[in-house]
Amino acid sequence: MSESLFESQAVVNALAEVVGANSLDLIGELAIEESVDEFSLAERLGMDVKVVRKVLYKLYDNSLVKFKRFKDQDTGWYIYMWSLEGNKVKHLVERVRREKITGIREQLDREQEHQFFMCESGCTRAPFETAMEAGFVCPHCGCRMDFQDNGHIIKQLESQLKEIERTFGQ
Ligand SMILES: [Zn+2]
Repeated sequence: MSESLFESQAVVNALAEVVGANSLDLIGELAIEESVDEFSLAERLGMDVKVVRKVLYKLYDNSLVKFKRFKDQDTGWYIYMWSLEGNKVKHLVERVRREKITGIREQLDREQEHQFFMCESGCTRAPFETAMEAGFVCPHCGCRMDFQDNGHIIKQLESQLKEIERTFGQ
């Protein structure tokens, strides 16, 4: 798995929503080495081994990691060596990326196709039709709703889109 998978902040955020923010460091650590036991992971990440196990089980539940079990000849205890299901992680990142892109495109379309109105205290933002139906009065605070130039929002969405596409290709 390439480290570049984590380069886009937007994708990292979206991935964190799926597997949890504390899983990302662990995935990154597993990406470096073929297989690692949970105590080494805990030490490297500065996390409690119980927390590491919890994250590993969750990732295992999502088929993102696999493990091999060995019996320690001295202690008689079992050692679990964990490794990444690299392709599954790639697929998840790819799915998250596609969902993110679709979401931004939809938002961008909406921003480009409508005029938006915002109430003076900033609590409500609505497209023209909705604002007109409300008589250009905010249904929450009763303030007047004024036309809002959404050029900066469009620019922001466009650069988010570019960032994701640049990192991952089309
Ligand atoms: Zn308001």
